[in-house]
Amino acid sequence: MESYLAELNDAQRAPVLQKDGAMIVIAGAGSGKTRVLTYRIAYLMSKGVDAFNILSLTFTNKAAREMKKRIAQIVGNSEAKNLWMGTFHSIFAKMLRFEADKLGYPSNFTIYDTQDSQRLISAIIKEMGLDKDVYKYKQVYSRISSYKNSLVTVKAYFQDPELMEADAMSKKPRLGEIYKNYVDRCFKAGAMDFDDLLLKTNELLNRFPEVLQKYQNRFKYILVDEYQDTNHSQYLIVKALSDKFQNICVVGDDAQSIYAFRGANINNILNFQKDYDNVQMYRLEQNYRSTRNIVEAANSIIEKNKTKLDKVVWTANDEGPKIVVNRLLTDGEEGRFVAGSIFENRMEHQMNNGDFAILYRTNAQSRAMEDALRKKDIPYRIYGGLSFYQRKEIKDVLSYLRLVINPKDEEALKRVVNYPARGIGQTTIDRLTIAANHYGRSIFEVIENIDKIDLKINSGTRNKLTNFANMIKSFQIMNETADAFMLAETVAKKTGLLQELKKDGTPEGIARIENIEELLNGIRDFVEGQKELADATGSLTEFLEDVALATDMDKDTGDEDRVALMTIHLAKGLEFPYVYIVGMEEDLFPSAMSMNTRSELEEERRLFYVALTRAEKKAYLTYTQSRYRWGKLVDAEPSRFIEEIDDKFKDYMIPQDDYKYKPLIDTDIFGEVDKSKFRQTKPSNGTPPPSHKPTDEQLRKLRKLRPASSPSISNSDPSEVVKLQEGDRVEHMRFGKGTVLKIEGIGQDKKAEIDFETGGIKKLLLKFAKLKVL
Ligand code: ATP
Ligand code: MG
Repeated sequence: MESYLAELNDAQRAPVLQKDGAMIVIAGAGSGKTRVLTYRIAYLMSKGVDAFNILSLTFTNKAAREMKKRIAQIVGNSEAKNLWMGTFHSIFAKMLRFEADKLGYPSNFTIYDTQDSQRLISAIIKEMGLDKDVYKYKQVYSRISSYKNSLVTVKAYFQDPELMEADAMSKKPRLGEIYKNYVDRCFKAGAMDFDDLLLKTNELLNRFPEVLQKYQNRFKYILVDEYQDTNHSQYLIVKALSDKFQNICVVGDDAQSIYAFRGANINNILNFQKDYDNVQMYRLEQNYRSTRNIVEAANSIIEKNKTKLDKVVWTANDEGPKIVVNRLLTDGEEGRFVAGSIFENRMEHQMNNGDFAILYRTNAQSRAMEDALRKKDIPYRIYGGLSFYQRKEIKDVLSYLRLVINPKDEEALKRVVNYPARGIGQTTIDRLTIAANHYGRSIFEVIENIDKIDLKINSGTRNKLTNFANMIKSFQIMNETADAFMLAETVAKKTGLLQELKKDGTPEGIARIENIEELLNGIRDFVEGQKELADATGSLTEFLEDVALATDMDKDTGDEDRVALMTIHLAKGLEFPYVYIVGMEEDLFPSAMSMNTRSELEEERRLFYVALTRAEKKAYLTYTQSRYRWGKLVDAEPSRFIEEIDDKFKDYMIPQDDYKYKPLIDTDIFGEVDKSKFRQTKPSNGTPPPSHKPTDEQLRKLRKLRPASSPSISNSDPSEVVKLQEGDRVEHMRFGKGTVLKIEGIGQDKKAEIDFETGGIKKLLLKFAKLKVL
């Protein structure tokens, strides 16, 4: 037996050794699913399967790199290089480059990131003369995104009266038009957005049987990690590609499905057996990651979910310490506790900073943690913040580079045509945009032909525009011979970007120059690295694609020893010896926005399961007694998830709370409450109130610091609910703004039917619905 196979247990070895056919590995956290995929690829290659015939889809590019590294150790580096491994987006962007012409796109199409897409949508809303308070560009963007991920093209949209009606009902009757204009503009700009990378791949495989066949023949073996979080669009791609050979291996854990809000469909995993012939189902049960205490605590939580597959997870690892639960006064104190605890654990157990992770439900929680870590001089890194490539100065340089590759790129052009300032004003840009729309050409083409077009632009400005176009063209000529690094360096200098920042002279300006230098270094590294790869050349196009799809997780080289801070969503698949889950409070985790239906609450619970199962040695849960929410200091209550962990697995650092009566909000899709699910939590056991509960004086002081938000209808005061009338304008934290259509029921059962601008009509139980009257 190949020696690496000995690094697997029997249950893991079985799916690795089954060379052909469709198989699904369903298993709990830390049981070696990702390891099975890695070793399976190595095994296939050792059995003579060509690396070129293997496609492996992962959740992050970082995961792909780590898997590749391990495979390279087993089968050798030169072979491993030929594997197609990466995220759906990066793999299919690569495929689309080869096939772009079939869809009418240039092979050097630009990839619009979220910011580019949102800017374009915002511009379209303005051009159409729509009210930007009704048509909020971010909402419109996410609507369009969800259409694309459900494969609702513009054409399909206009053939579906229900969708049009839903948008009209939510006061956005012209959403379809925006969608159409947006798609047209992207196309004209030779640009695809993130969702297009999946949508267009589907289109390609559907419309061109010969292309489908080519890739079906190429990817004889397909593997997918985190299958539970694939959305419909991704599911269809996998299905199409694997249809011929049906050599497909997917691994996942229904208990870790946490992206339903982005369209991931847990049914993909549940229906897998119906989708292929003779599906082999494998289960892994042994967890290698965590202590017995953590594994069993996690089991005790996920048991509370009704919708789940029955699974066993056990571990042979030591029992380990109990989960520590601590209550703090404020988020500042919470941060100090976490930083202090990291400091102590680091000393006591000789750990590195990189052995610690702080996980939270919302990005906003990082600030208090950062402050405390900085005070203790503990280096940290935040994942999921503004990535390096999103910074202004970096995007400016990249926009020039994008224009060199694809001068039609409208967002890149608008960004830099007057930066550094060249005296080309917004009016000119608006006129150019109108002309471009009129002629069905790109703005750059209009500029190139400026003298042939009758435009209200004076000759001075025309000259400036022509000079700009000539500068870009000179870069294009250089790009034919120079590598990406030389070109980028020239661009930074010749465009005046660096001078502009030097002139600035402030510390921020200097930091920006340093960032540009770092970018140039990055490009140089990239060029060197790519030249070693079989199917890459180190071209500027490749670099820009890499950048467009990079997340800051991918930039992590692992050589810096830092505490990791990230949202739980980002932590999926990762592991750390020590994990701190902070903000364990009702309305924060579970999120207030996820308590309207059972399925939402169950998704929150799965999220908690994911969080806890990241920990190898020890987990900490912290919550505060009061926290600023929407600008107001509110009393916080411990999360129900803390209570759901069996007592034998946890240790309170403080005397157990004096529990209040609190119903478990257990509602159906319309917010109807199932009363049988009401739960009496532990009555007060006479424990005196905690000594560090803030005094009224302290609270008053704290409240003074931030403005109070406008009055809201709280779930605790039904009398306020009465005020609400038909026709009132209200705002819901998740559904946004809406109008009350109808009120029915009385007292505790009072419900309102509300027409939300984005979410359509919903019936909410006022007792629980957190509504703000506008
Ligand atoms: P998640 O659900 O969180 O993605 P997973 O099922 O993918 O987890 P892995 O990340 O593959 O689990 O494995 C968890 C940890 O256990 C890793 O550190 C891995 O190296 C280790 N591990 C897995 N199988 C074995 C084994 N047979 N022997 C020793 N260590 C193992
Ligand atoms: Mg995994």
